[in-house]
Amino acid sequence: MSYLDANATEPLRPEARAAAIAALDLAGNPSSVHAEGRAARRVLEAAREAIARRFGPGAVVFTAGGTEANALAIRGLAAGRRVLVGATEHPAVLAAATGGVTLPVDGRGIIALEALEAALLEGPALVCLMAANNETGVLHPIAEAAALCRDAGALLHVDAVQAAGRVTLPEAGDSLALSGHKLGGPKGAGALLLRGGLEPAPLIAGGGQERGRRGGTEPLPAIAGMAAAAEAPMPDLAPLRDALEARLRIIAPEIVIAGDGAPRLPNTSCIALPGAAAETQVIALDLAGVRVSAGAACSSGKVARSHVLAAMGWGELAGCAIRVSLPWNATAEDVERFVEAWAAMRARLSRRAA
Ligand code: PLP
Repeated sequence: MSYLDANATEPLRPEARAAAIAALDLAGNPSSVHAEGRAARRVLEAAREAIARRFGPGAVVFTAGGTEANALAIRGLAAGRRVLVGATEHPAVLAAATGGVTLPVDGRGIIALEALEAALLEGPALVCLMAANNETGVLHPIAEAAALCRDAGALLHVDAVQAAGRVTLPEAGDSLALSGHKLGGPKGAGALLLRGGLEPAPLIAGGGQERGRRGGTEPLPAIAGMAAAAEAPMPDLAPLRDALEARLRIIAPEIVIAGDGAPRLPNTSCIALPGAAAETQVIALDLAGVRVSAGAACSSGKVARSHVLAAMGWGELAGCAIRVSLPWNATAEDVERFVEAWAAMRARLSRRAA
């Protein structure tokens, strides 16, 4: 089996597993004042420091995942501001930014900075821009967007869920959303990093945890695992990804790679094979032991038309695109298995079409 669906969730890293298991044995609640509580608190605060060391500087608020971190930033900071949101943002961001103004992207999927600049002229704003797109891996120019926001007195929220741990994040933006399971940690933890003393209105009030920013006992095993995953080194996956794309282009010059020529995550390829439905491709590859996804896999098994590819100007071809996203432990053998399975699938489909 070759698991090539890391953008849906990364395989658990051994460091993360060890840290999560150790935290499972801590009996105390991090908010309790007794010795067991203090022991749990130490693990929680060490995790907070590790996240800030890796992605900071800033205040770290632990959440249940990337969706909640984005929602906390957007719903919590939007008061009195127009929300400006990139057209290719994740549904988690689009849902939290409902009623906001959509900013277009170009054919490569990169935010149109001139549209952002123009929209910023119209009053106080909260801009929501992802560092890397989950479907195509395309990177937005966050540093440039941050400079425009700074000049206009606007806030910039960066959804760094896919970029964190895979590329160096620019130290830009007022808030940053992270997700533990996309880093190779357990599912169930995320974080919002806040810079410049920002205080979003809490989504969940409760017992005053996370300095009143997020009520509820912190999921310590998932948080400890997330921090350990964040500290683990990331192998350079670009050579494997480039080799995969080069092989496919030789086998099938008709393929189209989304965001080709744009800066992209080193692990992601969104590949369209004209005339071949994405679902058919995903099933054929699954039967051959290769796990990939069609469109955005975060949408609970449903394969909807990709709003990302639509925003990039794709028509019918969007229905023929699969996403290959290499995990931290991908090998040359995984690439080989994928290429062989994909070539066999393509040959079968073209025989059927003939
Ligand atoms: N933002 C992006 C860019 C994502 O890709 C995802 C999940 O795929 C999320 C946010 C949501 O993160 P989570 O699954 O941790 O809620």
